[in-house]
Amino acid sequence: MKKLSSTLCRLSSNLTTRPSSPIAVAKNLSMEDICRGKSILYLLRNKDIDEAHRIFLQIPSADIHLYTMMINRFSQANRIGDALQLFDSMPRRDIPCWNSMIKSCIDCGYLCLAQKLFAEMPERNVISWTTIVSGLAKFGCIDAAEKLFNTMPDRDTAAWNSMITGYCENGRVHDAQLLFEKMPHRNVISWTAMIGAYAQIDDSNKALCLFQQMWVRGIKPTSSTFACALTACANSTDSDLGIQIHATVIKTGYDEENFTLTSLINFYANCEQIESSSKLFEEVENRNVVLWTALITGYGLNGRHEEALDEFYKMVRSGIMPNQSTFSSSLSSCCGLEALDRGKRIHAAVIKQGFDLDVFVGNSLVVMYSKCGDVTDCLKIFNNMSIRNLVSWNSIIVGCAQNGYASQALEFFDQMSAFHVKPDEITFVGLLNACSHSRMIGKGRQIFQMLKENPSVDVRAEHYACMVDILGRSGNLEEAEEFIGSMPMKPNVMVWLALLSACRVHCNVEIAQKAAGEIFYLDPYNSAAYVLLSNIYASAGRWNDVAQTRMMMRSHGIVKIQGSSWITVNETRYEFVCGDRSNPLSTEIDKKLDWLDEKLKEYGYICEKTFALHDVDDEQKEYSLKYHSEKLAVAFGLLVTANGSTVRVMKNLRVCGDCHAAIKLISMIVGREIVLRDSSRFHHFRDGLCSCGDYW
Ligand code: ZN
Ligand code: ZN
Repeated sequence: MKKLSSTLCRLSSNLTTRPSSPIAVAKNLSMEDICRGKSILYLLRNKDIDEAHRIFLQIPSADIHLYTMMINRFSQANRIGDALQLFDSMPRRDIPCWNSMIKSCIDCGYLCLAQKLFAEMPERNVISWTTIVSGLAKFGCIDAAEKLFNTMPDRDTAAWNSMITGYCENGRVHDAQLLFEKMPHRNVISWTAMIGAYAQIDDSNKALCLFQQMWVRGIKPTSSTFACALTACANSTDSDLGIQIHATVIKTGYDEENFTLTSLINFYANCEQIESSSKLFEEVENRNVVLWTALITGYGLNGRHEEALDEFYKMVRSGIMPNQSTFSSSLSSCCGLEALDRGKRIHAAVIKQGFDLDVFVGNSLVVMYSKCGDVTDCLKIFNNMSIRNLVSWNSIIVGCAQNGYASQALEFFDQMSAFHVKPDEITFVGLLNACSHSRMIGKGRQIFQMLKENPSVDVRAEHYACMVDILGRSGNLEEAEEFIGSMPMKPNVMVWLALLSACRVHCNVEIAQKAAGEIFYLDPYNSAAYVLLSNIYASAGRWNDVAQTRMMMRSHGIVKIQGSSWITVNETRYEFVCGDRSNPLSTEIDKKLDWLDEKLKEYGYICEKTFALHDVDDEQKEYSLKYHSEKLAVAFGLLVTANGSTVRVMKNLRVCGDCHAAIKLISMIVGREIVLRDSSRFHHFRDGLCSCGDYW
């Protein structure tokens, strides 16, 4: 570095007014300035760590602060080797130097190095001990942390707090509570740690009780405390208390902080007051990714997926990069809309930003593709994942099950066991569903037995419902009924509905009446049960009972959900109801259906009139069957999408038998794959066959 003239010195004093190329200016400062470390500071502030290091090495006797600063910057850049080298070359090291080096090692993920340094320290203070205790806890070595904490020569509040936080982070909330009670002096950090821990494990009552106790004792909450308390309110959907806390937040002035605002947005969204979330968000000037993600997640949580995706693109346009959570929430909104094309667009953004290898985002992609019925891409994503956790395995098993790929689901379960990943409740629901969708009764029984023998998984009513479904739908209605009788817990509506819908398949009026009776006792307003019962009566030709059921429905003010099907083309959703003529292409759709009808007849297809379920004459039945919503949507799809591409249709109710038979043949006639998602599963129609094997 050259000695410089007074002009440059003048420049250096003008640094604040000359924001352009500040590094170039700093490099040209005088030698004395360098010795004072000013330019190093400047370079570091501008993240030119190598240049700062070069200048640092020219200083004959750098002071301890300059050393510490350089070491910290190296470790912040995850260059722990450089940091250690500098640390070793220090002429003199005091306790704070050692402490900060130990902390750097922990922050960079080198616990063993930190432990080694701790052992080598000539003398230690309470901070050294606390740093290593919280480091051990952070890496999950909670027993070692506990042991060290108990041998600490003296402990201050921060030391106690670090052990409490360590317990909380490792899920040992009870131990944290015991320590918290033993503490000689608790500060706001101790209270916040406990409130946060209880909020985390969904024990909102305890969390809020502690929050109130703290308040009564006159300890002033911080923004973190408010955030934890609001999380507890959100989980318990205690909106009154949450609103009170919001008022306090405003009084204490924390409503300016993004951190607190994020918790408030989450809280209102969880309490189904998304308008309040959005209003809060609108008032924020400096929005960051966390805040925006909270709003996107909130919209999704409230079923307002369109707005969620709108906010996602607004955020991207404003130049804020999405993070893993943003992607995950947006993908889940694509699931909510069953919008494969939009999901694919977000997938492209995921790849562009390099998040495609992230396990969290990968899981969301697996779910998105499987819920949109694109099994090929779903499998591709899963197979390319380098890291998989329990959620990944559950997602692929459930996804395969819903799409009728039962043998794949079972294969993935074997693979998962080979990788020593322990299954949980969701895994078993997925496996049982897979069996139920594929008439695998023996396998289903086997899996249920496995579930009962697994000590770490709770058998829930949901599992019983799956098993009732497996037994009932395969025609073993009496056994299914007996099975319900053997349940250790009270059968819920879901269990009885499984039996009732099995009665619908096998036209068993007697058991159906019993099941429906149980449902009406538990939930007199269950519209699905009324519809099923009325349909069962209809297919048995018991029109008086049909009329009576419908009357009961009316007297309870229950409206039958109208069947509708929809298809998304170029990100626009086209919805159809039975006999719908509101689509601008109605005439073309009719022509297509007439043409298909002719072709279907050539293939020997006869209308299955029992599925019309109306007390009308046959000709009229045939007419309304022809214009069922799913047929209209399929015909529209064939008209407007590229030849050879897959047609994807969604339906809010179960597909009727006639449409199922017709669409199977249509897939052969037009030589295209047709995917139909109904209320219970996916049907992949190809070459005249359906993936469900006509069993649904
Ligand atoms: Zn139909
Ligand atoms: Zn099918």
